[in-house]
Amino acid sequence: MEKENKRRRFLKAGGLAVAGAGLASRKATAGEAALDAARSAQVPDGAEYDVIVIGAGFAGLTAARDLSLRGARTLLLEARNRIGGRTFSTRYAGHKIELGGTWIHWSQGYVWSEVNRYGLGIVESPGASPDDLALLSDGRLRKLKPEAAFPRLSEAMGRYCDVDGKGGSTIFPRAQDPLFSNAFMRFDRLSLQDRLDQLRLKDDTRAMVGSMLAINCHNDPRQGGFVDMLKWWSLGDFEMGRLFDKLSRYKIAEGTGALASAMLGDAKADLLLSTPVSSVGRGGGMAVVTTTEGKSFKARAVVCAVPMNVLDAIAFSPDIANAKRAASRAGHTGNGGKFYAHIKQKVGNWMGMSPFPNPITMAWTERQRDDGTLLVCFSPPGKLDQNDEEAVQAALRGLLPGAEVLATMGYQWGADPYSKGTWCWYRPNQLSHSFAELRRIEGNVFFASADSAKGWRGFIDGAIESGAETAHEVIGYLRGKA
Ligand SMILES: Cc1cc2nc3c(=O)[nH]c(=O)nc-3n(C[C@H](O)[C@H](O)[C@H](O)COP(=O)(O)OP(=O)(O)OC[C@H]3O[C@@H](n4cnc5c(N)ncnc54)[C@H](O)[C@@H]3O)c2cc1C
Repeated sequence: MEKENKRRRFLKAGGLAVAGAGLASRKATAGEAALDAARSAQVPDGAEYDVIVIGAGFAGLTAARDLSLRGARTLLLEARNRIGGRTFSTRYAGHKIELGGTWIHWSQGYVWSEVNRYGLGIVESPGASPDDLALLSDGRLRKLKPEAAFPRLSEAMGRYCDVDGKGGSTIFPRAQDPLFSNAFMRFDRLSLQDRLDQLRLKDDTRAMVGSMLAINCHNDPRQGGFVDMLKWWSLGDFEMGRLFDKLSRYKIAEGTGALASAMLGDAKADLLLSTPVSSVGRGGGMAVVTTTEGKSFKARAVVCAVPMNVLDAIAFSPDIANAKRAASRAGHTGNGGKFYAHIKQKVGNWMGMSPFPNPITMAWTERQRDDGTLLVCFSPPGKLDQNDEEAVQAALRGLLPGAEVLATMGYQWGADPYSKGTWCWYRPNQLSHSFAELRRIEGNVFFASADSAKGWRGFIDGAIESGAETAHEVIGYLRGKA
């Protein structure tokens, strides 16, 4: 009964979280709603544009802004009742939290330039550089000091990535251009676990590496492709500490929602929220985009900016290449949980690690509070119901004995039909077989997504890269056509 009550309380909180996404950027969201109503009225069935952009995540927002600012009459169609896609700023008990994409870094040039452009600030996640580390290794809990444990982890990750006797540096010599060298192809069939099994790492070190691999692919390391680790290694300057800072330390002070709103505010595009697209037809130099409600809009070009994992839900006529559909059906591996757990204990700047199949592969302090600690936690798919406070408490106690969970908050990205997953991590062979295909233009239909970005694929930065590059290509196409 108590469990059921807790569940109801959470569901209520979950509902508030959705509304709360607006609270994080109340002004902007109210403005968007008004904008949406006004613009909806002005978009009659059959309306014609230069470009229709499908999806208002960062890839679609960037494309719509850049296209419209370069004079293309642009319509942005978004399935959900909000913009931002796999980012989702909200509040928990007075604190800003991010349910989706969160951390950025100055080495991620696309997002960094947007943050500067719109005058946004940066804050740090304290637990990303912890004072205490808990490691669950073969069922034993170890309390470690990061200054002793992290050099071992760094050294082990260096060995893990050193497939060329040069620290892995020859596999992706240009991190922003994954196909610059084909050296990766030798390793593309390997899973993260295959590579781990090639090394003889000692128990604790193996557990730390296993935990990193599970959070990186957000799944069972047997599912995640090894070459994506080599790609991240290159993006992280071939060094664990630097990579970790780039992945999990700095976030936008005002929230990702503020950046999304600022970009939308600059766009001259028409926007329709709550407008899922069901089909795209093309012929005679025009495209017809039809929504699930049966409305149709026409354009000279389309930018399809939906996640790889949901592309297959849209009907195309003529159909898109089989390889695109196959990649979408297989999906990338990112599909686990990310949630916040408010615990009663004050644990300081703490981090916990445990390898797959433990229910929490990594967790750290996101905020120290007067009434306890707010932890951010990551779990592999199917191992933990993040809505179930008792299950979360039991899982956390493996890392923090006696932890008392006061509340949890997360979003089920894998269950959402418009994302069907979290961040992109390719499966074995997807870089060889799917990456170029997912990017390939089909007639006047262009594809933009963080999931097929060249540099920080799977990141906000990659979404902006892809949106900007695609907008440029579409402008060229439209000019060539004019
Ligand atoms: C839990 C989690 C944690 C993450 N952590 C980080 C992080 O710390 N740092 C980082 O940089 N990145 C992180 N990411 C990844 C990052 O958020 C994404 O890579 C990026 O935001 C994706 O942008 P996108 O525009 O390519 O796709 P999306 O944001 O998914 O946008 C696609 C849009 O298309 C819409 N759509 C889908 N289908 C249709 C349809 N049929 N019709 C109309 N619209 C449709 C969707 O509703 C969505 O708005 C995280 C993601 C998640 C989920």
